[in-house]
Amino acid sequence: PPLYKQRYFFVKDIVNQYKPKKVADLGCGNATLLCMLKFHSCVQELVGVDPLMDRLLDWNSDKLSPSIGDHLDPRDLDLSIVLYRGSAVEKDSRLLGFDLITCIELIEHLDSEDLAKFPEVVFGYFSPGMVVISTPNSDFNPLFPASTFRNSDHKFEWNQTQFQHWASNVAKLYSYTVEFTGVGAPPPWAKHVGYCTQIGIFKKKQPDPGSWILAKPTGSRVSEPEEHAYQVVSILCE
Ligand code: SAM
Repeated sequence: PPLYKQRYFFVKDIVNQYKPKKVADLGCGNATLLCMLKFHSCVQELVGVDPLMDRLLDWNSDKLSPSIGDHLDPRDLDLSIVLYRGSAVEKDSRLLGFDLITCIELIEHLDSEDLAKFPEVVFGYFSPGMVVISTPNSDFNPLFPASTFRNSDHKFEWNQTQFQHWASNVAKLYSYTVEFTGVGAPPPWAKHVGYCTQIGIFKKKQPDPGSWILAKPTGSRVSEPEEHAYQVVSILCE
């Protein structure tokens, strides 16, 4: 399958493995990943955030409706899907208490000022049980015919050392563990370049080891003042 689909399948595998109830996708684009995740019966709440939500929404709003496709995988639990217009570097208290936050091909679109704010918002404030971040691996770029940025809107493309250095520092600062993997394996003669898309899987450290996910009941941060920076674009409920 094409690389973008491999990234979505990677997240689906994570959802199958860890069974998160509340999942948010920052920089959700046309919400294709959310459309795929609605079929996972463990998921009760799906949220998408993107600054360009209006432009993107026309695409998939039909496919997003929670009820469509129910016959394929009957759900026991209700599902709500909320789409927000907003930026991953703005704090919004409606994103607190999530089990999983995904940022698929997002960080390379942030300028240096926004990239500097990103860890404090996502890890410090939203503080989900788990974060999955994917970004292009520039070590792989020489295998492409033209060795430039893969997309003109990319502000940077990190090699494996740069990404792992950034991610390890973020994990340490906010008490997460991080593991590195990726999708898009290199050909056998170029193993050293690593995956085409590099991925960091961050898990929040908990006092009780092994209960790092689903450990924070919804509403446990009620002391946190309400803060609404995002605009609701669409709410779809079963
Ligand atoms: N995650 C989607 C996917 O994998 O198909 C879309 C990836 S697309 C390469 C990058 C997305 O990030 C775009 O939809 C863009 O609008 C969004 N984006 C850019 N800056 C953002 C920000 N500050 N906060 C949230 N999303 C942002």
